[in-house]
Amino acid sequence: MPLYEYYCEPCDGVFEALRSIKEASEAMPCPVCNRDSKRMMPTSFAAFTFRDGYPRRIPDKGTYWHLGKEVKNLITGPVRPNEHPEINKPEPASRKLKGDLAIERERRRLERQAKAVEKKEQEAASAAYEARIKKRPPQLDV
Ligand SMILES: [Zn+2]
Repeated sequence: MPLYEYYCEPCDGVFEALRSIKEASEAMPCPVCNRDSKRMMPTSFAAFTFRDGYPRRIPDKGTYWHLGKEVKNLITGPVRPNEHPEINKPEPASRKLKGDLAIERERRRLERQAKAVEKKEQEAASAAYEARIKKRPPQLDV
């Protein structure tokens, strides 16, 4: 069954109810005062961004509504349009701090150093191997 929204005028509140499409347009008793409440059109949903100055949610949990999503706090700082910090979590800053950059540079330098050492060791090992082969007395075929 679809979820519909109803508005109770005496309580100045909005509540949701699961109803069949056939019943949806009929009045729904308010869960607080039991009076008939009219169905709200989904288009009016966006108006319930803030609780202050707008109808509250029934049952009232002290939360706010932002574009149909429940949030605990009002928007306090500047945000992009239609975004709420609790819903649209800001992406972690991709810009690295100076300290991070220095660490990254040092890490790459050590990596290069390790690779150079490894290459030298390999070269030394293969040189030693070749020297050993050359020194080895000729083997007799059995
Ligand atoms: Zn009511």
